[in-house]
Amino acid sequence: MKQLKDFKEDIHKCSKCGLCQGECPIYKITGNDCTVSRGQFVMLDGLLKGELKMSKTINHYLDLCLKCGACSKFCPSGIDVVDIIAAAKSEYFKTHKTEKLISLFQKKIIFKLIPNFLSIFHLPLKYLPLKSKVYPKKVLYFGGCGSKIKGFKSIVKILNSIEIEV
Ligand code: SF4
Ligand code: SF4
Repeated sequence: MKQLKDFKEDIHKCSKCGLCQGECPIYKITGNDCTVSRGQFVMLDGLLKGELKMSKTINHYLDLCLKCGACSKFCPSGIDVVDIIAAAKSEYFKTHKTEKLISLFQKKIIFKLIPNFLSIFHLPLKYLPLKSKVYPKKVLYFGGCGSKIKGFKSIVKILNSIEIEV
């Protein structure tokens, strides 16, 4: 996997035109430049130059990005933000190993173990800690720009395992 320093040239290609702001669903809510590729590239450039240190705050902004790639499609410099964010996340985990373990553990639990657990025991809904009456039997799941995130199928699987048709 490429490291953050391998994306130095890509990051420098950003002209700060701000077109990504018009496409980013997160920026539309936050209005904060640190949550869209333009601002994130400024932060990551600071890291590469040694002017900034990787921190929980930077990681928080990296996490807010949905990795949907919507901004990249309209970026005149053709920068692929998704790969850059992934490399930056891996940089963060190098110095925060415990958090990496927790993150992996959570993903494992949420996306793998829960559906398997439910299907092994064929638990009827009444034995689950969910009250069937408050949940609809059938739902429409709108993945939106987050649908490219791994685990989308698992969300459907989880809903099916508690007898909710998607
Ligand atoms: S659209 Fe591309 S070049 Fe323009 S500010 Fe966003 S990331 Fe930078
Ligand atoms: S990948 Fe999606 S969420 Fe992330 S900065 Fe681009 S448009 Fe925003």
